Amino acid sequence: MVQALQTVLSKAGIQPRHDMTDEEWKRHLVDRMNSAPGALGDGIDCPKCLNRGYYYRYDEENAGPVMVNCDCMARRKARRRLDRSGLGSAMRRMTFDTYQTPEEWNRQILTVAKKYAAAPAGWFFAGGQPGAGKTHICTAILQELSLRYPVRYMLWRDESARIKASLNEPEGVALMSELKSVPVLYIDDLFKGAERPTQGDLNLAFELINYRYNDENLYTIISTEKLLDDLIHIDEAIGSRIAERSKGHRIQLKPDPSRNWRTK
Ligand SMILES: [Zn+2]
Repeated sequence: MVQALQTVLSKAGIQPRHDMTDEEWKRHLVDRMNSAPGALGDGIDCPKCLNRGYYYRYDEENAGPVMVNCDCMARRKARRRLDRSGLGSAMRRMTFDTYQTPEEWNRQILTVAKKYAAAPAGWFFAGGQPGAGKTHICTAILQELSLRYPVRYMLWRDESARIKASLNEPEGVALMSELKSVPVLYIDDLFKGAERPTQGDLNLAFELINYRYNDENLYTIISTEKLLDDLIHIDEAIGSRIAERSKGHRIQLKPDPSRNWRTK
C-alpha cells in the first residue's frame, strides 16, 4: 500500500524531503492518503474518512500505516438495510420537507419532531388517530437520525409475527437481539389491529421495550393507533415505560386533531 503510493508519488516527482526521517515521511503519506475524498454517495457526510469508509493511521509498533474501518460504516450499512427491512421507496419520501403543514397542529407536530431529531433525548411517541401523518413524521425522524446513528425500522405486525414463529430458533433469537440492541429503533404501528394484543404479543413487546428502557443510550421511536392511556390500560408495565421515556417528546392525536391533540 505504502509502496504503491510511493511509486505513484515518485513518478509524479514527489519525493520525501531530504530532511525527513522515515517515520516523518510515512506520517506524511498517511496524511496524504487521508486527504483523498471518497465516493460513498449515501447521504452520510463523514469528516473523519471523507466518505471513503476507512482511514489510515500511523502505527508505532509496525512503524507504518494501518488501515482502519471508519465507524460511519455501521450507519451506512444500517441505511442500506432500511430498504430491505420494509422501509420502501414510498417511505423514503417521508421526510420533514415533504410533511404537509396546512394547519397549526401540523406545524407544531413538525416542530416537536424536528427538535427531537436534532438532539434526541429519550423516546419519541406518536399515538392516536390513523391518517394523521404519524408514520410520516416518525419515518422523517428515523431518516434524519440515520445520518448519525445505526437505525432499524420494525413494522410491528410483520416482525412480531416472524419472531413469534421462530422464538426458540436461531433466526428468532438473532432478530430479537438485533431489535433490542440497535441504537435507534422505530416500531411502526405497535399493537396494530387487535383491540387487545395476545399474551404472546405482550410478552414480546415487554421484552423489547424493557430491554431498551434499561439502556438510556438506546433511542426508540414508536407510532401506534393507541393513546398512552390505552397502552397503560392494556399493559401497565409496557405503557408506563413508554410514557416515562417519551415525556417531553410525544404527540397524541384524538379524533379530529385540529381541535384535539397534545404533546404532553
Ligand atoms: Zn467515516
